[in-house]
Amino acid sequence: MEELNTGIFTHDGARQYLEREPELHVDQLSTRIWTICDDVRRTLFIEADNSVIAFDTLATPGAARAYRKAIAATIPNKPVQTIIYTHDHLDHAGFAADLAPDAEIIADEMCAKVIELRKAKGQLPPTQCLSGNRNRLTIDGFELMLLNPGPIHGTGNLGAYFEHEKILFSSDTLLPNARYGLLPDYHIWNLVRFMREFQQLDWTTFVPGRYEVTDRARFDKGCDFFIAVKAAAQQAFAEFVPIWELDAMEAYVGGKLREQFGDLEGFDENIGLIALRIVHHYLMGGWGLEDTWNPGVLLADSLNDPIAE
Ligand SMILES: [Zn+2]
Repeated sequence: MEELNTGIFTHDGARQYLEREPELHVDQLSTRIWTICDDVRRTLFIEADNSVIAFDTLATPGAARAYRKAIAATIPNKPVQTIIYTHDHLDHAGFAADLAPDAEIIADEMCAKVIELRKAKGQLPPTQCLSGNRNRLTIDGFELMLLNPGPIHGTGNLGAYFEHEKILFSSDTLLPNARYGLLPDYHIWNLVRFMREFQQLDWTTFVPGRYEVTDRARFDKGCDFFIAVKAAAQQAFAEFVPIWELDAMEAYVGGKLREQFGDLEGFDENIGLIALRIVHHYLMGGWGLEDTWNPGVLLADSLNDPIAE
C-alpha cells in the first residue's frame, strides 16, 4: 500500500479524514475554464492545448485524488502538467503529490519559502517561483495573469485574472457570505485595500476559494462588510465591551451590523468569531510585518522593488 501523505498531522486518528475522497462538483465557467468545489473549498482548472493547468490541490490527499479523477473525467486524455499554488495553506495546496506528482508547480516566492521550510508530507515544493505583483504567463498555449497585490491571506497569495473570460479568482480572501468565522490567517490591515485594487480590473465573475461563484456586487458587499466590522470593533473599545468575550462581541458587533449585513449567509453564526478576531487586530496591532503600511519590507531580502508603498 502506498504511504499516506499526512501533511503535518502526527496522530493516526487523522487518517480517516485524510483518506476520504469527497464528492466534488464541477462547473464550466468558459470554454477552457472549470471550477470545482468540495462544498467548502473551491478552485479552478484549465484546459490548455495539450495538458491541464490545475490551481491548488484541495484539502487532503483523498480530495486531491478525487480532484485528479474529476479533471480526468472532464478533460480526458490531457494530463495535469501544471499546478499553481494560490497560497501555502495545506487545506488548499497541501497535496500535489496526490494530484499530479510530476507536474510543474508555480508559486509566489514567499509561499515557496514557507513550503520549503515546513516540509509537510505531500506538499511538493514549487519548481517555478514568481515575484512581483503581476506576472503574465502563457502556459501550454493558455494566457493568464497571476496577481499578488500584497499580503491578504496566508503567505505568498496569488490571484488569477482571466482577461478574455472576465473572471477573477482569489482564493481564501473575500467571500459572498459570512461563513468563514475565525479568519485566523487573514492579514486584516491590508486586506480590503488590496482587494479593492482588483476592482479596477474588468471582470464580471468572481471565484472565491470557498463556497459559491459570485459577481461584482457581492464582491463589493464583501469589502463593505469587512470595513464595517473593523469600524464596529474599534467602537467596542470606546464602549468598554469586554473584547475577549465571544458573547459580548457577538452581541455588540452583531447588533450594530445586522440591519445592513444580516442577510449575508452565516452572519448570525459567525459574526461573534469574526468580530473577536478583528478586535484583537486593533488590540495588538496586527499579525506581524504584513500588517503594516508597507508590507513590501517582507521581501527586502529577495526583491529590490517592494510590492506596496
Ligand atoms: Zn488559506
